[in-house]
Amino acid sequence: MKSNLLPPINRYPETEAFWDAANDNRLMLRHCPACQETSWYPRTHCPLCGAEKTEWLQASGRGSIYSFSIVRAARRPTAAAVVALPEGPSMTAVVVDSDVHAMRIGDPVDLRFLQA
Ligand SMILES: [Zn+2]
Repeated sequence: MKSNLLPPINRYPETEAFWDAANDNRLMLRHCPACQETSWYPRTHCPLCGAEKTEWLQASGRGSIYSFSIVRAARRPTAAAVVALPEGPSMTAVVVDSDVHAMRIGDPVDLRFLQA
């Protein structure tokens, strides 16, 4: 079953490709040809050098735990984490389908978009 992750609001032309890819469970980042850096989240310009021309780059969908905090308020504990992407940037995420009490810094994770 295909999910529909498009948000009802905040759908801007500059993020449309991101949401289209997210609906196919793919993460898109922005790559800057001027400084060769990759950034997260989608913006119309490079946040690192200010260049106005950036390109979409499909991320590998893999990452590693940079830091995390266990959230025990849920019925089943989850973890709010900062995930380091091999493409360069880091992003926040929720770790699911994992024993968060056994989780360690540096553990590999795979991306999966969840429908809210
Ligand atoms: Zn740049």
